[in-house]
Amino acid sequence: MSAIVDKLLSDEIKALTPYQSARRLYSGGQDWLNANESPFANEYQLDDSKLNRYPSCQPTTVVSRYADYASVRPEQTLVTRGADEGIELLIRTFCQPAKDSILICPPTYGMYAISAQTCNVGVVNVPTRPDFSLNVDEIIRHVGQVNLVFICSPNNPTGNDIDAKQIELVLDAFADSALVVVDEAYIEFSSQGSWSKKLAKYPNLVVLRTLSKAFALAGLRCGFTLANEAVIEALLKVIAPYPIPEPVAQIASQALSNEGISRIREQITQLNEAKTKMLEALNQLETVSAFSNTAANFILIRAQQKDQLMSALVEQGILIRDQSRQQQLDDCLRISIGNTDQNRRLIDAITRFYQDK
Ligand SMILES: *Cc1c(COP(=O)(O)O)cnc(C)c1O
Repeated sequence: MSAIVDKLLSDEIKALTPYQSARRLYSGGQDWLNANESPFANEYQLDDSKLNRYPSCQPTTVVSRYADYASVRPEQTLVTRGADEGIELLIRTFCQPAKDSILICPPTYGMYAISAQTCNVGVVNVPTRPDFSLNVDEIIRHVGQVNLVFICSPNNPTGNDIDAKQIELVLDAFADSALVVVDEAYIEFSSQGSWSKKLAKYPNLVVLRTLSKAFALAGLRCGFTLANEAVIEALLKVIAPYPIPEPVAQIASQALSNEGISRIREQITQLNEAKTKMLEALNQLETVSAFSNTAANFILIRAQQKDQLMSALVEQGILIRDQSRQQQLDDCLRISIGNTDQNRRLIDAITRFYQDK
């Protein structure tokens, strides 16, 4: 660190380590099953005739198409640079640095805590129960102490849906004191209904969505925050003036056309079928135990000799994600569902690894 950087940086920022995204950790290999991306690369058209102009802050076609898709009103819809920007905006808008806190339920998605830390906002951890359901009694004990409660359903990296009854209890308990943010990044793979339909009933409900997973557009960086109008208006005060580049808006509009939506519905069906097959194959192995109630496009496993297994896979160009540093996830690895060939190569490689031992 140079003297000037050392002098200017706060202790909080000095203590940070950046999010270890799958892409930062490994960029080689050919079978990328470590970031819950879709294996399908769909085609889009670009019109470059308006690139000399600043884009609209909230591109109207994207907003209205997503609102239709999610059964909400355009006034309840905010487009962001990925759902990750939605997470950060919520924290920046509703939490004061060095004063307020958010609540999270680990093991869960890492960006809630990282975004809070970059804003010098506190993080209250209420671990899930061993079956990865919420510890509602313990969460509710923090009423009045936090401004945002993050619930991820289906949860990343465990894959399970969070029971609707539990989310209702949390929404009711925090009705007067905190926004409850339900992160539905994987909702398309789940058979549970979306919370977006409950906005009228719960003024403190916020739903996060993304085009990165089921819509197969992780490279686009486009996500959505769905909430009551008052919440969206507050976020619009804080968001950057031009958060959505024109090419992103064009591609997102195409992805959200009727044609785009029916295409991803087919792909979701295929991925869910592939996941069932993958689970069956994993269940054949005595050295691996899979968390089988996954409602997302990935499977969490607990594996014997997981470090050696990871290295053996990397040598063959197959990347999966180590989740063992999270609370309650000793020896756990997360596998994203890829295409047929990738899934087969992975299962073959895991099977061979244990046979050779
Ligand atoms: C992938 C993911 C996100 C981030 O989505 P982007 O739109 O790519 O920023 C948010 N939440 C969860 C739970 C995720 O897994």
